[in-house]
Amino acid sequence: MIDLRSDTVTRPTPAMRAAMAEAPVGDDVLGDDPSVIAFQRAVAERAGKPAALLFPSGTQSNLAALLAHCQRGDEYIAGQQAHTYKYEGGGAAVLGSIQPQPIAHAEDGSLPLEAIAAAIKPVDVHFARTRLLALENTIGGKVLDPGYVTAATDLAREHGLATHLDGARLFNAVVASDTPLAELCAPFDSVSLCFSKGLGAPIGSVLVGPAPLIEAARRWRKMLGGGMRQAGIIAAACHHVLDHHVAALADDHRRAARLAEGLAGIDGVEVLSRATNMVFLRVPQADTAPLKAWLRERGILIEVLYATRLVTHRDLDDADIERVIEAVGDYFVNR
Ligand SMILES: *Cc1c(COP(=O)(O)O)cnc(C)c1O
Repeated sequence: MIDLRSDTVTRPTPAMRAAMAEAPVGDDVLGDDPSVIAFQRAVAERAGKPAALLFPSGTQSNLAALLAHCQRGDEYIAGQQAHTYKYEGGGAAVLGSIQPQPIAHAEDGSLPLEAIAAAIKPVDVHFARTRLLALENTIGGKVLDPGYVTAATDLAREHGLATHLDGARLFNAVVASDTPLAELCAPFDSVSLCFSKGLGAPIGSVLVGPAPLIEAARRWRKMLGGGMRQAGIIAAACHHVLDHHVAALADDHRRAARLAEGLAGIDGVEVLSRATNMVFLRVPQADTAPLKAWLRERGILIEVLYATRLVTHRDLDDADIERVIEAVGDYFVNR
């Protein structure tokens, strides 16, 4: 199968499985798993933050961050399309009584500064207390402009807000913009990083930030059921991909660019955007489901749930990309 639904579909490599099998372990809830300790230290150092905490998922890492930053009756500002707002089941509201304040994105994925400023509420009994600005990088595959990130986080700080970055795919931004991870994390108090997306680990996200915030997040993690015991097996997989899989994200980006280029030449396909490892398409509404079925019969899986989105990842090669372009072309010739 050529699976373009997401970069979460990657399988562990033999080298990763070997690292997992050999990992020394302990009980991480008791704080004595050496592989978890070593991995968290490596991520904190690379991100330029004092502390780091391993989570089973990015959803839980983001949620623990929101719960650590905000109290009941507080509010966080996020994008209408932000994972923390739209794709996490409303967890912050459901479990934290934290009100989201969503804002429409600009074309480049940013939240316009004027819109952020307008959404920050004055101290007044009528309003929730605006407490946090949460951004996402990459967003829809797009790398946020560094000048924008500085301006947005400065604006937040001027208003006394904390800042969180959902960096599920921040390593894609690192590679695409050739910028060190620490530099992309620096403007934010906390950052959530996923190792199970393009990096290819089976499980694992990490929250980085100041030690007191991470301690608060550790309490929330336990409460959310994310305290894991011999988690060194997971940490070893994540540590392996941190050491060995980051640079290869450039191949995913190159393949997404080739995919976009090939698809753009097909009558019936409109390429809406291509950034890092994601290609968004528009095909005539009536073709969406038949195209998906046509591709499935040819061993190609695509996501058409909330957009026609194709995602490249390390379990695809150049020949797979050419097969996809050919199969989509055949569909539009034969329909
Ligand atoms: C995948 C993802 C997450 C976390 O998802 P999990 O599946 O819970 O690990 C968070 N934010 C973004 C932008 C993501 O793509």
